[in-house]
Amino acid sequence: MASKTMSLDGISRKIFGEKYKEIIEWCIKREKPDKYNAIPKGRVANVYVIIEPLSRLIIRHEQETTDVTTIPTYLGISVPAILNTKFQSGAVRRQMLSLLHEWFDRNGKVKSEELKIDSYTCVMRPYMERTRERQIPEAFEGYCGECPNCLIFGYAVQEGAGYNVKSRVEGDMYVAPVPEDKCVISVTFNAIDDIAKTTYRPELPETRRRGALYEFRMIEVGTPFVGKLALRDMTIAELLLTLLALARTTRVGGRTTHFGEVKVHIPAILFSKYEIGGGYEVATRILGKGEYVEKALTLEDAMNEVTEYVKKFESQGILVLDRGLGDKLRGLTQEEVDTVVLQAWKDVLVLKESLDMFVGKLSKEKRKK
Ligand SMILES: [Zn+2]
Repeated sequence: MASKTMSLDGISRKIFGEKYKEIIEWCIKREKPDKYNAIPKGRVANVYVIIEPLSRLIIRHEQETTDVTTIPTYLGISVPAILNTKFQSGAVRRQMLSLLHEWFDRNGKVKSEELKIDSYTCVMRPYMERTRERQIPEAFEGYCGECPNCLIFGYAVQEGAGYNVKSRVEGDMYVAPVPEDKCVISVTFNAIDDIAKTTYRPELPETRRRGALYEFRMIEVGTPFVGKLALRDMTIAELLLTLLALARTTRVGGRTTHFGEVKVHIPAILFSKYEIGGGYEVATRILGKGEYVEKALTLEDAMNEVTEYVKKFESQGILVLDRGLGDKLRGLTQEEVDTVVLQAWKDVLVLKESLDMFVGKLSKEKRKK
């Protein structure tokens, strides 16, 4: 028998505390392939997230070159925002993929019996190689279509080649509840000239100047961004795996590797029947209070505000309020992580087979059984 800490029950208890039994009960059970598994079940884990920049952040749209992405609010104040694509596809999904590959490298051979897979090549095309003229949907990028990354975050296929799977993770925008003029700074960099290996020196005569000065607008360290992810119809293992990838995400946006380091906090999760609340609403609520005009909004303030906001929905499901949740996820042992990955992988293979049954694409050998 598996030891207490290694069982999913034990791991769930470690992460969710006393409510773990209720949460396991609430999660989807997907023990064997069944058409019914393909039908949405209306279980939504509303995961409230605060992204804390640990270094100055460069956040902007793909095509923008100099500016910070900001959004207007109804209060007439413009605030910085991290788009969901930057965070979910660009960072969390990438984190999940690397977690799976790392696991497969260590355990794949041993577990191939249980999973019935002998190689794992699921990849995501890097953001930057995407061509400008033709936006290639991210989905056609080498996803395998049968791993937790594919069946949790979804994938699309070329026409005629099977069916698309919708993402069961839906994020919104991550909004800094801080006016743009309070948290965006302009930073000037001095680029080194490739040939002369010198920086720009304005005191030199023009003909001898090398290098260049350039400027970036960046988000100041510590500016909290609030948002929410809706995780749909997850088994307990899928839920834990997705939360783990979220907690382990340490970079967002920014093309330059020196910037963009973040810490993800998960102060609240509401397990409910539908999607409730969102980052924009929390942010405008904070801005509307007008308390943080003179006094800078700290991470602690943001945590308090999110907690207060989510508490309004307490009667709508099972509410877990725990500022240490992210750290607890990051603190799981390797053995515990391995247990979660293996079970999540088994769960998605059952889902895959259920989807095949649903669309009537049973393979020949399966039909023979
Ligand atoms: Zn895959």
